[in-house]
Amino acid sequence: MVVVKQSPRVVVIGGGAGGLAAAVDCARRGASVLLLERGPEVGGKVRQERVGGQSIDAGPTVLTMRWVFEALFADADAALAEHVRLHPLPVLARHAWQDGERLDLYADREATAAAIDRFASAADASGYLAFCRHTEAIYQKVHGPFIRTAQPTLASLVGSLGLRGLPGALGLDFHRTMWKALGDFFQDPRLRQLFGRYATYYGSSPFEAPATLNLIAHVEQAGVWAPAGGCRR
Ligand SMILES: Cc1cc2nc3c(=O)[nH]c(=O)nc-3n(C[C@H](O)[C@H](O)[C@H](O)COP(=O)(O)OP(=O)(O)OC[C@H]3O[C@@H](n4cnc5c(N)ncnc54)[C@H](O)[C@@H]3O)c2cc1C
Repeated sequence: MVVVKQSPRVVVIGGGAGGLAAAVDCARRGASVLLLERGPEVGGKVRQERVGGQSIDAGPTVLTMRWVFEALFADADAALAEHVRLHPLPVLARHAWQDGERLDLYADREATAAAIDRFASAADASGYLAFCRHTEAIYQKVHGPFIRTAQPTLASLVGSLGLRGLPGALGLDFHRTMWKALGDFFQDPRLRQLFGRYATYYGSSPFEAPATLNLIAHVEQAGVWAPAGGCRR
């Protein structure tokens, strides 16, 4: 009997960033991939509008977690840098309030702390630095067993903490809301509001999302990159 080994066939539905990444990953593992996109072009929310003769990103504008994209390309025997030029941004985000107040967050933590000192108070500046340490610690705990794991569960996450067990799990801050946790670090309501907005990155509310997700502040603080020519490029 002759056994003909066929490559697995995969259908990916949707050509947004997620579908494109999944298609690349399946293809480089030897699958025969068919990607179906109902729109006129791939990209999904990654799209541009023409405004005043210029193309501007209308969805995502910047990348974080650059290593994810580098690994995706490297696994497929390609180099991200050969396809797109990424510029690290010294200003991570710019915030404005109706009364004309402005606050920028910088890639440099100390520069942000100094800006918060001027904008709010010295207590809030040191609260910010404590918040950075807190969110980095959460990130370090979930990086391996959750973020880099294909099918993570809460049980496997707690198991990964080993002997630290329950105290370690409480350090993940899942037992209270983002909003509640932010109150421990910031006295100025505008800062609580500002850092609470990270919940909106995944369509949630800081009043309901678990405080674990304050780790997004750390992800952004770890680096924001702008692709030359925009995200569409
Ligand atoms: C205003 C805005 C700003 C953002 N800013 C950033 C940012 O700066 N940085 C960042 O990293 N992220 C940002 N995001 C989030 C980021 O855009 C999304 O997380 C990401 O683009 C989602 O990709 P996706 O593939 O999961 O979904 P989508 O981009 O929504 O793609 C889904 C695709 O599936 C197709 N589809 C759906 N149903 C079918 C079907 N039945 N058959 C065929 N095709 C189908 C759709 O047409 C679409 O093309 C932003 C989002 C928004 C809205």
